[in-house]
Amino acid sequence: MTAALAVVLAGTPAQAAPAPGAPGIGDSYFPDYGNGGYDVSHYDIRVRYYPGSDVLTGTTTILARATEDLSSFNLDFVLNVTSIKVNGWTATYARQGDHEVVVTAPRPITRNQYLTIVVQYEGVPSEVVAAGYTAWTKTADGALAIGQPEIAWWWYPSNDHPRDKATFDISVLVPDGVEVLSNGVMPRAPRAEIPGWTRWSWRSARPMATYLAFMAIGQYEIVQDVAPNGQQVINAYSENLGEFAESARASVQRTSEVVDWEQGVFGPYPFEAQGGVVVAPQTIGFALENQTRSTYAAEFFRRGSDPYVVVHENAHQWFGDSVAVDTWQNIWLNEGFASYAEWLWSEETGEGTADELFEFYYNLYPATSSFWTVKPGDPGPPNIFHPAVYDRGAMAVHQIRLAIGDNAFFALLKAWTAARKDSVGNIAQFQALAEAISGRDLDAVFTTWLYTPSKPTLGLAGAASARSAAAGARAGVTAEPKSYQKINAVHQDLAAAKGR
Ligand SMILES: [Zn+2]
Repeated sequence: MTAALAVVLAGTPAQAAPAPGAPGIGDSYFPDYGNGGYDVSHYDIRVRYYPGSDVLTGTTTILARATEDLSSFNLDFVLNVTSIKVNGWTATYARQGDHEVVVTAPRPITRNQYLTIVVQYEGVPSEVVAAGYTAWTKTADGALAIGQPEIAWWWYPSNDHPRDKATFDISVLVPDGVEVLSNGVMPRAPRAEIPGWTRWSWRSARPMATYLAFMAIGQYEIVQDVAPNGQQVINAYSENLGEFAESARASVQRTSEVVDWEQGVFGPYPFEAQGGVVVAPQTIGFALENQTRSTYAAEFFRRGSDPYVVVHENAHQWFGDSVAVDTWQNIWLNEGFASYAEWLWSEETGEGTADELFEFYYNLYPATSSFWTVKPGDPGPPNIFHPAVYDRGAMAVHQIRLAIGDNAFFALLKAWTAARKDSVGNIAQFQALAEAISGRDLDAVFTTWLYTPSKPTLGLAGAASARSAAAGARAGVTAEPKSYQKINAVHQDLAAAKGR
């Protein structure tokens, strides 16, 4: 037996012993976000929520496949875990850092093995601090699980990074009379499950980044309709919007019209449903592009209706959601393009051309302003939502448009969203596609506008704007486009609230 075993061993290629999966997916800005060693295909999140006490209990089933031989792997999560099973076997687990759970299965995990990970848990999300704050928001009538980049940790265990997208079933049991909004479609109407409690079910059939999964629990009026492309539209408005109620509706009810227009610019809408949710005043201070159903702070509508924020968040359905960031350094691919969509809407509606907006923004910030020291292509982790990522980010997009011309530019937008649909992308890949489509070397434009910590001078690429800027300078004034105040207010709100 001993001899035979030796022969077998000698004939087996050398294999590394199973090792722990990495605690991060490999993002230089957030080294311990996401995890290594496995790839998730689906999350089945089944939770019960008690408004008032803010207690969340539940079970999340994760379908995944190992990408390495693993002695253990990590999940990102902050609530109390009460049990974890891996392929039916009870696993042991331990906390590491502020959001890592190290899971050790009783049997070794081999590369390519399918994993069914069932995690049971409970907690009071509003009492948990991680990454220096609490992303979960308890409200007077429920809760909001909405945030970027952090939010998943407070309500379901995950491989929390846009690079590992998955499909989702989200099912929430709440007291009768409470509404639950989430992503995608409702595969069935809410239904009574146990006396006094109703289960809401939501399904996302297209792959989604973990931070884009959301819940809004509370008192909402839900407005259902059918979009011009035949899709289900579900908009929802907090019943506590007060003075913001009508201006919020006059904006968010235009979602399907905005999406229809954006399809003409960016290509076919990438998801299965459309909509928006306006949450109560003084709960969250931002808007977020949750997949298929963006959420808006009521305060965006304090100056009256504002389609620009609706244009911005829905542009993210292509730039940010369908094509997500490969790493968080690439945030310009989200915010630069969602902001530029507002410039295009302004152009479309006769409230100022992109040329005029470029000129106005360019002249707004003097060369001495710290605004120019943040590089949109590499803003640094504390600055991923800095105004420069939005405003200089949009200026950068405009410079690319001027450099390659309208035909190549609009072909590029559609080619990018088609090539990377349901996936991720980075700036280098975008530049390569822009160069392939235009036949131009664009190094100078990308370096100048995305990677230089100072105010660029306007060269050949900016000739058109330089001409109009010169005309403005001669007149001693740069005319303010009609859309500027609304666009600027949106960006100030977005940047101020999300940067922390
Ligand atoms: Zn945005």
